[in-house]
Amino acid sequence: MLREYQPDLLFRQGEFRPGSSLLVDEDGRVAAPPATPPDSPREVVRLPGKALLPSFVNAHSHTFQRLIRGYSEHRGTNGDDFWSWREAMYRAALSVDAGDLYHVARMAFLEMALAGTTAVGEFHYLHRAQDGTAYLDPNHLGRQIVAAAQSVGIRIALLRVAYMRAGFELPPSAGQRRFYESEAEFLANAASLAQELSGSPHTAWLGIAPHSIRAVPLDSLRSIVAWAGQRGLPVHMHVAEQPAELAASVREHGATPVALLAREGLLSERSTLVHGIHVTPQELDAIAAAGATICSCPTTERNLGDGIIAAEEAAARGIAFAFGSDSQTLIHPLEDARELEYHLRLRDIERVRLDAIAGQDMSQRLFQYASAGGARSIGLRGGHLAPGEFADFFTLDLNHVSIAGVPAEELLPAFLFSGSLEAIRDVAVAGNWIVNDGAHEAQREIVARYAEVSRRVWRA
Ligand SMILES: [Zn+2]
Repeated sequence: MLREYQPDLLFRQGEFRPGSSLLVDEDGRVAAPPATPPDSPREVVRLPGKALLPSFVNAHSHTFQRLIRGYSEHRGTNGDDFWSWREAMYRAALSVDAGDLYHVARMAFLEMALAGTTAVGEFHYLHRAQDGTAYLDPNHLGRQIVAAAQSVGIRIALLRVAYMRAGFELPPSAGQRRFYESEAEFLANAASLAQELSGSPHTAWLGIAPHSIRAVPLDSLRSIVAWAGQRGLPVHMHVAEQPAELAASVREHGATPVALLAREGLLSERSTLVHGIHVTPQELDAIAAAGATICSCPTTERNLGDGIIAAEEAAARGIAFAFGSDSQTLIHPLEDARELEYHLRLRDIERVRLDAIAGQDMSQRLFQYASAGGARSIGLRGGHLAPGEFADFFTLDLNHVSIAGVPAEELLPAFLFSGSLEAIRDVAVAGNWIVNDGAHEAQREIVARYAEVSRRVWRA
């Protein structure tokens, strides 16, 4: 039977509309009113005092890093600012077994769901057992992550990572022993995972993620990107996050990462460049010409001190954007959206830097990046609540203390810049609630299991 959701305000085509309802068909997709006779039987879901919006998509996540919150906020004994973060990350990566990984991923996905996120691109690079040997099933850990997303109820693009070396002319690193696969192993394992996921194409699917220019030799990068191209898969890669990465790329290839990808013809509209902070205007031109997406992770980038992306220059070129929670320091799509703008304000001592670029309103742009932009990046059609898209959405409590009293015309900027995540009350995937009145039905169990794993990892 059709379902008709009746909020006070429906967010569609960039504005909040009073008196509009959302029709959802039996497959969980948005139905078009003209194709649906007004007298066709339907279940009416009234949502008084609420607005309904397309949900968020988190295009870049490493779920296991959810474990290192709080453990990296100090300098290493050698004074190095990055050391404590990397040590905590390796410790988490080496400590978790497959069951632990499942519980940690569920916790991260739960937090995303509560924040109105219904699809994630998981940049997954833990492949081997804790001692560095291969599991009997080389996709054992990837399958834990997919199962975790499915248990929480969100969609997942498992972006299977190719990680082949510590870096140019560097010996293998013990801390990375769970990450490494040869090119042949990677391609075989990715092919078998693609086959396995083909049975549930809308809830879990494969994407390809050469980790970085540092971790993948150029010959392998060419093969992997070609392999993904033949299958039409999304290709994600960490690019231009930190200056040392650029220097290493220049030393090995005579070009910075984006210039190298452009020179090799490895960019396309299926490409997502994660971070893309340290880039030249010419490199932005190349990203725009290819139709590639930049996935910005401002809450992580500010935590790691990576730098500030020239979002206004990218936006002026029409480059598509998505957001990711990356290191999970914070799982907060509103913070990611507002920080993209706020970092520019602090850098330039000037307000509203992303407004009126190519005729687009700033808040509409930021919301679009957080929803439709993320969907496009991970190979999902969504983010508009347009007919035929899956009915993935959340509701907003119009009486929440953070946004109450704001008229419909100013609600989007009020929500993005001043809204609390607690204003997000209900979250639906394919028209079915996974979060109801601010809670997930498995929440207590997920939190308890996660806390057990966390205590064990850090006590060991
Ligand atoms: Zn990352």
